[in-house]
Amino acid sequence: MAVGWHRPTKLVIDTQAIKENVGNEVKRMPQGTELFAVVKANGYGHGAVQTAKAAIEGGATGFCVAILDEAIELREAGFTEPILILSVVDVSYIDLLLKYNLSVTVATQEWLEQAIEQLNHIETQTPLKIHIKVDTGMGRIGFTTPEAVKQTVELVQSTQTLDWEGVFTHFSTADEKDISYFEKQTHRFQAVLSVLVELPRYVHVSNSATALWHPDNVGNMIRFGIAMYGLNPSGRALPETYPLKPALSLVSKLIHVKELSAAEGIGYGNTYTTTENEWIGTVPIGYADGWLRHLQGFSVLVNGERCEIVGRICMDQCMIRLPKQTAVGTQVTLIGQDHGEEITMQMVADKLETIHYEVACTFSERMPREYK
Ligand SMILES: *Cc1c(COP(=O)(O)O)cnc(C)c1O
Repeated sequence: MAVGWHRPTKLVIDTQAIKENVGNEVKRMPQGTELFAVVKANGYGHGAVQTAKAAIEGGATGFCVAILDEAIELREAGFTEPILILSVVDVSYIDLLLKYNLSVTVATQEWLEQAIEQLNHIETQTPLKIHIKVDTGMGRIGFTTPEAVKQTVELVQSTQTLDWEGVFTHFSTADEKDISYFEKQTHRFQAVLSVLVELPRYVHVSNSATALWHPDNVGNMIRFGIAMYGLNPSGRALPETYPLKPALSLVSKLIHVKELSAAEGIGYGNTYTTTENEWIGTVPIGYADGWLRHLQGFSVLVNGERCEIVGRICMDQCMIRLPKQTAVGTQVTLIGQDHGEEITMQMVADKLETIHYEVACTFSERMPREYK
């Protein structure tokens, strides 16, 4: 995809903020705990490689990704730390898991049996690193009973070509005030651990929300995702345990400014009509960049003043109502701070009736990421 290097619209990523957010968590987590930075989905849209670099500087000692290709991207960029792939990888790619020294999630006995079969055909000295996933109530992937986990562990331990590196689960409500379901999942995980004769190097349960709001319950490794990017995992539901510093800003510049008289239409479908003489500015960002049409009526910042997005957002451009004549080339802040005013990812998420996770992942590859 062509990246818009020659257009003034860009995501600006504050790598120092990522480093600080990771550092603050590393400082407070229990001794003997490691932090793995979750950089799936291109580092939640922030850029996987640069984010990973900042996380290591902040004290992370490993990474989690969602898919094999994301792990390979990190290895090709030169990272040598442990990388855990959190979702299921087809057994036919075991050669790649070994080649790139990756750890993989095991969620069923069948997968493991097929993996062992594959491994028997591969001439390899190094065993495949696996983390056993326990489904304690997320209902996504993983073993659901202590017996099934025990049986799998026995199979793993009887197999030379496997290296049992971890056991883990994932909470579905760690970001909520009501902790009853969280406790139910905790008890189920404890029940699994209690039938195991020994434990692997990594026993992990903690996403960002668990790390922030259940700090006594993190196991010995934290899978630190959204909070690393400076975003509150709960949205607005729970207060941040310590201040998180947002890493992402989205800026552009006015490319066209004009004064219209009253009763002029703006944009496709003519959904906005000027009511008086109005200064209208055009901003070179649209839904192809992930600046979605539903943001019509939302505001952006120009010289610290909130300006409404008027008319429908187009694929590549949108229009805003300026309070006065403003020069072409003036900066437009769509997310971030400007003259003491701020538009947050959470505000964008509220307007889109979604969560900031989704907003961050929706920004398209067309927008360049600038790192500072
Ligand atoms: C994405 C993911 C995380 C990170 O979650 P955050 O809420 O972003 O901290 C942790 N564990 C698993 C299994 C995940 O899929």
